[in-house]
Amino acid sequence: MATDQALADEIVGTIRAWVDRDVIPNVAEFEHADEFPQAMFDQMCEFGLFGSTIAPEYGGLGLDVTTYARIIEELSRGFMSLAGILNTHKIGATMIGRFGTDEQKQRFLPRMVDGSFRAAFSLSEPDAGSDTGALRCRAERDGDEWVLNGTKMWVTNGVRASLVMLMARTPEGRITCFLVEKEPGESFEGISVSKKIDKLGYKGLETVEMAYVDHKVPHANVLGGDDGIGHGQQYALSALELGRINIAARAVGVAQAAFEAAMRYAQQRETFGRPIYDHQAIQFKLAEMATKLQAARLMTYDAAERADAGERVDMEAGMAKLFASEAAFEIATEALRIHGGNGYTTEFPVERYFRDTPLMIIGEGTSEIQKLVIARKLRDRYPVD
Ligand SMILES: Cc1cc2nc3c(=O)[nH]c(=O)nc-3n(C[C@H](O)[C@H](O)[C@H](O)COP(=O)(O)OP(=O)(O)OC[C@H]3O[C@@H](n4cnc5c(N)ncnc54)[C@H](O)[C@@H]3O)c2cc1C
Repeated sequence: MATDQALADEIVGTIRAWVDRDVIPNVAEFEHADEFPQAMFDQMCEFGLFGSTIAPEYGGLGLDVTTYARIIEELSRGFMSLAGILNTHKIGATMIGRFGTDEQKQRFLPRMVDGSFRAAFSLSEPDAGSDTGALRCRAERDGDEWVLNGTKMWVTNGVRASLVMLMARTPEGRITCFLVEKEPGESFEGISVSKKIDKLGYKGLETVEMAYVDHKVPHANVLGGDDGIGHGQQYALSALELGRINIAARAVGVAQAAFEAAMRYAQQRETFGRPIYDHQAIQFKLAEMATKLQAARLMTYDAAERADAGERVDMEAGMAKLFASEAAFEIATEALRIHGGNGYTTEFPVERYFRDTPLMIIGEGTSEIQKLVIARKLRDRYPVD
C-alpha cells in the first residue's frame, strides 16, 4: 500500500536533517579509518529504519518502495555505507515477507524491526557472481536438519548479522534459500569468516568471505517450507528486483553530493581572475552533471512508483540501476576533475564519491547484466508476430 505522502515527506525530511547535522560533518573520520559508524547505526535503529519496510502487523513501519528509495538516497548523500548497513537486511526482510511461511514470518520479522537482529544476503560465491546458477555451496538433508558445506563470497554485514539468507544447492540440483541463524561474530558452529575483504570504498562495514563446514540448519529454516525447496534463486532474484531500485537510489544520493560539492567549489575557486564557474567548459560539465542527475532520479522514482502500483518492474529497475550507477560514476569523476588537485586529496569529500560510485555499477548485477535483463524484457514487450 502507498505510504501517505505527508508521512513520507516527514520521515524523509527527518532523515535529511539528521544527515546534514550529524552524518556529513563526521563521515570522513569513520570512512578514512574504515570504522563501523556505531553512533550513526544507533540513530538509524532509533528511527526504526531496520523495520521500515516490514509490515505493521510485525511491528514495522510498512513504508512503500518509493519512500524507502528516498530514505536510501538521503543516507547515501551523507555516507553510502549507511545504505549498505541497511540494505542486506531489507532484502532479507523482503524475502521472508514475500516467501516465508506464516510461522517463519511470525518467528523472524518481529525480531528484525529494531536492528538488534540483522540480516545478511549471501548469494555470491568465488566462482558465481553474475552467473548465479553456477553456485556450488551444498545442502544435504539429514533427518530434520540440513547440513551446509561451501564458501560464500562478498557477504556484506556477514560478521554483524544474526541471520544469513543463504543460497545453497539442494540434492534435486536447484537452489534453495536457508535462513541461517548465528551469533554475530567471526565464527559460529561451523561458520567462519575465511577472509575480510579490503575494499576501494564502501568503508566502515564489513564485506567478508564465509566458509561453511558441516553447519547444521533445521528443516524449519528452509525459506517457504517444503514448497521453497528448489526456489531459492527465484526468491533471491525477485528481492533483487527491488534491490536494484535501491542501488539506483544510492547512486542518486552520492551523485547529488558530488554535484553539490562541484557547484560549491566551482563558484569559490578562481583562476585567471574569475571563478572557474565562469569558464564555459566548467559550465558545460555542470550542466551535463545536473541533467544526468535529474534523469537518474526520475528513472529511480518511476521504477519505485511502478513497483508500488504492483507492476513487475524488472526492466524499469534494471534501467534505473544501469543509468543511475553509470551517471553517478561519471558525475563523481567530473566533480573530482572540477576540484583540480584538491579533488585528489582526502581534504575534500569528492575522493570518497569517486571511490564509492563504482560499487553501484557492480553490486546486485553489473551494468552488463542489467543490459541482458533489459534486452530479455524488450523482446517480451516487442514480439514479432
Ligand atoms: C563491495 C561488494 C559487496 C557485495 N555484497 C554482496 C552481498 O552482500 N551478497 C552477495 O550475494 N553478493 C555481494 N556482492 C557480489 C556482487 O553481486 C558481484 O560482485 C557481482 O554480481 C559481479 O559478480 P563477480 O564479481 O563474480 O563478477 P563476474 O561475474 O566474474 O563478472 C566479471 C565481468 O564480466 C562481466 N560479465 C559476466 N558475465 C557476463 C555476460 N554474460 N555478458 C557480458 N558480461 C558479463 C561482468 O559484467 C563483469 O564486468 C558484492 C560485491 C561487492 C564488490
